[in-house]
Amino acid sequence: MKDCSNTYVYLCGVIAIIGIISTSYFYLQSEEQKTNIESLRQDRNLFLNQTKQKDSQLLVASTTIDELTSQLSDLKDDLEDLADDYRDERNRNEDFEDQIRSLSGTLGDLDKLAKTDKELLQKYSKVYFLNENYIPERVSKIDDKYIQDGKPDQYFHARAIDHLEDMLKAAKRDDIDLKIVSAYRSFDEQTSLKGQFTQVYGTGANTFSADQGYSEHQLGTTIDLTVDSVNGTYGSFADTEAYEWLLDNAYKYGFILSYPEGNEFYVYEPWHWRFVGTDLARDLHRGKDTFYELDQRKINEYLLDFFD
Ligand SMILES: [Zn+2]
Repeated sequence: MKDCSNTYVYLCGVIAIIGIISTSYFYLQSEEQKTNIESLRQDRNLFLNQTKQKDSQLLVASTTIDELTSQLSDLKDDLEDLADDYRDERNRNEDFEDQIRSLSGTLGDLDKLAKTDKELLQKYSKVYFLNENYIPERVSKIDDKYIQDGKPDQYFHARAIDHLEDMLKAAKRDDIDLKIVSAYRSFDEQTSLKGQFTQVYGTGANTFSADQGYSEHQLGTTIDLTVDSVNGTYGSFADTEAYEWLLDNAYKYGFILSYPEGNEFYVYEPWHWRFVGTDLARDLHRGKDTFYELDQRKINEYLLDFFD
């Protein structure tokens, strides 16, 4: 019986020790969990605080972004206004430049016109005549190879002589050997020539030799042409290939036939060609009116580009 009670006491002691140990263990466990929970709570609070802080920072940032956006938009408006102003200013400048350009163009034209002798496009007849004191601005000697034998020292208007020589060269390329019988004639030469005609033909000379001062030859821009085959006689020039060639080509070099067949201004002169500028010669060639039929005001419009 004594043994039995010892065993019991022993068992009770073991159980008590186990109880104490496990109670302590669970107590410690729970304390640790409490500590963990507390730490988690602190972490959570810290996190919440940080979140709140971030939120307020975000709010500040978004306010700043809104302000910046609005400032940018204002800047953009300002820039657009500036660009508009710049465009307006540039347009004004361009308009001004255009005005200057057109003004200087007009001045250039006026200057060119002032330097172009108006007589060069006048019509001369029994009514309108060239002053006896008139002399061309400047004349140049025509190359002797283009001159009919026995008619040396022929002169032509210096500013138009290139057109004349271009025409004579072009004719030569087409085997038309044009020769000049007469070119620039001064008033005195014209007077003496008229005297010769008058002596031979009496007053009838008026019909085929212009009265002194009326002659287009005094301008320096008119020539009488021939070819060897007609032996210097004017009359049969109209039957030559050279005449046909001139009718087809002279306008390209600015020359026109002053007195065509059937004209009412003067006797038909197939040999007598006058330089009137390439623009007018071309338009006369295309149209139906002759130089003398055209209105003087219309003719004057061609003066600006006379020598071009
Ligand atoms: Zn003539």
